[in-house]
Formats: sequence, C-alpha cells, structure tokens
Amino acid sequence: MQTAARFTQQLAATVGRRGFHATSTSNAKVCVVGAAGGIGQPLSLLMKQSPYVTELSLFDVVNTPGVAADISHCSTPATVSGHTGNDEVGAALDGCDVVVIPAGVPRKPGMTRDDLFNTNASIVAGLADACAKHCPDAAFCIISNPVNSTVPIFAEVLKNAGVYNPKKLFGVTTLDVVRARTFVAENQKFDVDTVDVTVIGGHAGTTILPLLSQVEGANFSEEDFKALTHRIQFGGDEVVQAKDGAGSATLSMAFAGAEFAELVLRAQAGEEGIVACSFVENDITQAPFFSTPVLLGENGVEEVFHYGDLSPFEEEGLLAMLPDLVAQAEKGVDFVKNRSK
Ligand code: NAD
Repeated sequence: MQTAARFTQQLAATVGRRGFHATSTSNAKVCVVGAAGGIGQPLSLLMKQSPYVTELSLFDVVNTPGVAADISHCSTPATVSGHTGNDEVGAALDGCDVVVIPAGVPRKPGMTRDDLFNTNASIVAGLADACAKHCPDAAFCIISNPVNSTVPIFAEVLKNAGVYNPKKLFGVTTLDVVRARTFVAENQKFDVDTVDVTVIGGHAGTTILPLLSQVEGANFSEEDFKALTHRIQFGGDEVVQAKDGAGSATLSMAFAGAEFAELVLRAQAGEEGIVACSFVENDITQAPFFSTPVLLGENGVEEVFHYGDLSPFEEEGLLAMLPDLVAQAEKGVDFVKNRSK
C-alpha cells in the first residue's frame, strides 16, 4: 500500500481549490438532500455554479420549491428542479450520479455529534432506502452527523438492499481539512491556497486527527502543535457556541461539501490524480470506516492510501480514537439491525 506522502504534490494540486476551473467536462445529475437547510441552501448554490453539473435536483421535506425557484434564476447552465416529501423523492434521485446529503438536525451548544444519533439515524436510514431504490449506482456523500455512525448506517441499508458499493460511499470530512488548512496557514503565515493538511480518523472531537507533522515546510512549536490539533478537532464547537443555539457550521460546511462533491464529479468525468481525504470503508486500521487520503476515479475510490508516518503525539491520538470509531460504527450497524421500516 502506498502512503499519502507520495501524493503530497498531487494533493496540493487537486484538493480543494476554489474557483471551479473545469479541465474536463461532464454531464452529471447531482441531488442535494436536505437542500432547504442551513448547509443545503448554500451548498445547492455552490453546486449550481459547478461546470460539472448539468442537472441539479434539490430535495427536502419542507421549503424546497422556494429554494429551487431562487437558485434557478442564477445564470449558470445547470437546470434546477425542486422536490418535496416522500412522494417526490424518486423524481429527485432518479438518474443521479452524485447525491450529497446534509439532511438532519444540527447541534446546539453543549451537544456532541453523537447526541444527534437518535434523530439523524432514522433520517439517514430512510434516505438510504430511497437511494437504494432510485439511484443505487450514484456516489453518496454523507454530511449528516454523527458521520462516524451515519456512514455505517447508510452502508448497512445499501447492503440489505443488495446494492452496496464501498467505492461509492463517502463520509464527508472535508470541513476538518478546510479548517486545518486555514488554521495552519494563519499560524505558519503560509499562503492558504497552497497549504494542505492530511486529516485522518473520523469526524467528531478526538477522532479527528490532523497530521501536522506531515505539513511540508511547517515548523510548529510543541505548544502550537497541540493547540492547533485541538482547535482543528473542536473547531466545530467554536461555531456552535458563536451561533448560540441557531445551529452549527453551515457556510464553511457548504464550502467544504461543494469542494468534495466537485472532486468526485471531476474524477467521474475522467480527470486523473484526484486525491482527497474521506471517511470510507477500508482495512488500514481496525475501524471499518476510516478517513485517509483516497484516489478518486470514474467509479469512485480507486485506491486507499496509508496515512504514512506519525509523530509520537499523533500515534497516541490514533490509538486513543480507534475504540471510539469502532464503537460508533457498531452503534450504526446495530441501529439498522434493530430497525423496523
Ligand atoms: P438544518 O436543520 O439547517 O437543515 C437540515 C435540513 O434537513 C432541513 O431543511 C430539514 O428539513 C432537512 N431534512 C430533515 N429530514 C429530512 C429528510 N428525511 N429528507 C430530506 N431532508 C430532510 O441543519 P444543517 O445545519 O444544515 O445541518 C445538517 C446536518 O449536517 C446536521 O446533521 C449537522 O450536524 C451536519 N453537519 C455535518 C458537518 C460535517 O462536517 N460532516 C458539518 C456541519 C454540520
């Protein structure tokens, strides 16, 4: 297995640069599920600007017609359709190449992502049923929290329906990478457009592990190393507290979600060498799903890379998180086992 380090140059070249410069073309239908929400609205707007999207389908249980009408007036080529409620989920999903899912409730101050499990597990499982039925071959990008459990839930539902393709199910951990780039660039006075940080593990607190020891050209004091790691792990809390009850990260999440979806679309369109961190099924650790750099291709994950060498501090963080990642995945699997449709 190759390590991520071999792809550092590619990462810098391909991961996440804004501006949507098309170097290939595609003819893709993308659905945003939860499109009327705090993340869904700006994410839908960003997807409307992508040259890789020809058909943008917006689905939510409420308010989709207004969002769709509004976004449809933007002068970019993608056509827009809005769909509301279970009767229209088929039309929303039929023929989709990529489905991005920020549906479900967000955190309030004092809540962990795991506190959202009870509500969001059912929402995500229901949406997985619909995806299995209407667009089993799409790439699924799961944003709904707790990602460490919702991705295993989605996988189990697809498995039960006989349509699970591990190469096409992604937990979106891009916001952790986006935060890491921003905070590292500030700290090291780097150009944020060229810095990249590999972030491994999961998407909750200490399961988020930025590999600062691998950041090229960086020189962190021990104090900064620990403080930055902590800030990247708990950056979401800064937003939850600042919003003071009005939700969690929406705009930065939309930015990150659009970045990741666009990378998937670019790879589907045949662009080569696209590497990004994502929470996918793999056997690098004992956790069934683990975020690590993956090479994306026309059919989803082409190769999963090992994360490379860790500092002793990072090694400690990895060992400490693994039991949590395993338990949170099992919680998702158990939920699906005990679920009545
Ligand atoms: P929000 O409440 O503003 O929006 C959620 C939307 O989902 C609402 O419009 C709601 O109507 C819709 N919805 C609920 N059930 C649905 C269903 N069955 N089908 C379709 N739509 C449905 O919340 P938000 O701030 O946009 O956050 C959405 C989710 O994203 C939360 O779970 C949040 O924790 C998560 N999140 C993830 C990350 C990440 O990095 N992966 C970052 C921030 C937030």
